[in-house]
Amino acid sequence: MTVVRTRFAPSPTGFIHLGNIRSALYPWAYARSKGGQFILRIEDTDLERSSQEAVDVILQGMRWLGLEPDEGPFYQMQRMDRYRAVLAQLIEKDWVYPCYMSVQTLDELREAQMKAKVKPRYDGTWRPEPGKVLPPVPEGVKPVLRFKNPLGGVVRWDDKVKGTIEIANAELDDLVIARPDGTPTYNFCVVVDDIDMAITHVIRGDDHVNNTPRQINIFKALGVEPPVYAHLPTVLNEQGEKLSKRNGAKAVTQYEAEGYLPKAMINYLSRLGWSHGDDEIFSVEQFLAWFDLDHLGRSAAQFDEAKLKWVNQQHMKMLSGDELAEVVKPFLVKLSVVTDARLPAICQLFKDRCDTLVVLAQWVLGFYHPVDVPALELEKHMTPAAKEAIAILASTLSARDEAEWDAAHLGLDLKEVLSKTGLKMPQLAMPVRVLLLGTAQTPSLDAVLSLFRKEDVLKALSKS
Ligand code: GLU
Repeated sequence: MTVVRTRFAPSPTGFIHLGNIRSALYPWAYARSKGGQFILRIEDTDLERSSQEAVDVILQGMRWLGLEPDEGPFYQMQRMDRYRAVLAQLIEKDWVYPCYMSVQTLDELREAQMKAKVKPRYDGTWRPEPGKVLPPVPEGVKPVLRFKNPLGGVVRWDDKVKGTIEIANAELDDLVIARPDGTPTYNFCVVVDDIDMAITHVIRGDDHVNNTPRQINIFKALGVEPPVYAHLPTVLNEQGEKLSKRNGAKAVTQYEAEGYLPKAMINYLSRLGWSHGDDEIFSVEQFLAWFDLDHLGRSAAQFDEAKLKWVNQQHMKMLSGDELAEVVKPFLVKLSVVTDARLPAICQLFKDRCDTLVVLAQWVLGFYHPVDVPALELEKHMTPAAKEAIAILASTLSARDEAEWDAAHLGLDLKEVLSKTGLKMPQLAMPVRVLLLGTAQTPSLDAVLSLFRKEDVLKALSKS
């Protein structure tokens, strides 16, 4: 059996967003699930629009998500000699001819065709045919090279997403495969690469469907069997437009900065165009065990940030305090928090309230740096009776031995204050929470108190 080899072939012409990265996730998953190889190829031949920053975002995003290639990155710009060599083979085999039609004439031709309501296409003026007399070669003009697309018949492939697709060769004109300066063009480079890299399955966005019959014809001219194709439907943004940088799509790396877990991203992205029954929350291992090309969706998937947050929250809940402490650390460093042994327990206590690591880091922050107490919130909860109770609480807590600074003992202290003052727990707990963490909504107060240092609690209560 042939080994499955897939590839991700991004053009580094803009910051890679979630729609793009899904085109990395599926080929990666397919290769992994079949024990095959996944190759990264950077299609950087558009020199004007390609940038190193965009390459860096691709590499960083893939590393973050764990979509590590087995081979590559290969850069098309570094393979020009190879493309020229294959071009020479095609010339040798008479699959290519020079075309001297000027840009102006081509434009005129296109305009006339559009007026006549026919599909704009090159008319074959320079295509040599037996018995045909070609126009005289204009002086000083460097020709482009065109591929002799077969004139009759159809190109057919069984697309793993779209089913059988059939295009008549009559619909396809003779593609330019080399520019006047000899540099090869996009569709040709892709075919040479897919051949050299022994790609068995091309899984890519369906904006490439139109290129596929042309690429298949070049494969055939080179005597190579084309790979299996799977063209993924578009990812739409929340407004129902195609996800793109121009209409607000974020770079993949932005989600790292916003505190999403890579495994939650994989979980969420995997379902933008593929499903496994009704399963919503699963691990990367489960995804790899389940993924196949037979359950790819045909309709466009819509990105939904609220759903992504929900998925992230579910994955955060599944992590232990220790695991969360590890992944939240970089966010705490950014907040200049120097943590200590309390961190895992704080993460454990607050994880159910967080949908990103940024939110978790904000909670943790309150345990290490005094919060700004919001005046309005304090006013709302700080009744004269509460103020009195807090003074009693402060003295009770200051008498509490450090060795007994735990939720159970602190719970007893709270109860004692309540019985002394006749207040109900919320009347005391709400203002204390506001003083400690800036908000009245926190987990149970005894647990919260136990994770604060005694001296910090006493300092915060003195602000009442
Ligand atoms: N470079 C192309 C793109 O970024 C992908 C080409 C392909 O996958 O064949 O859209």
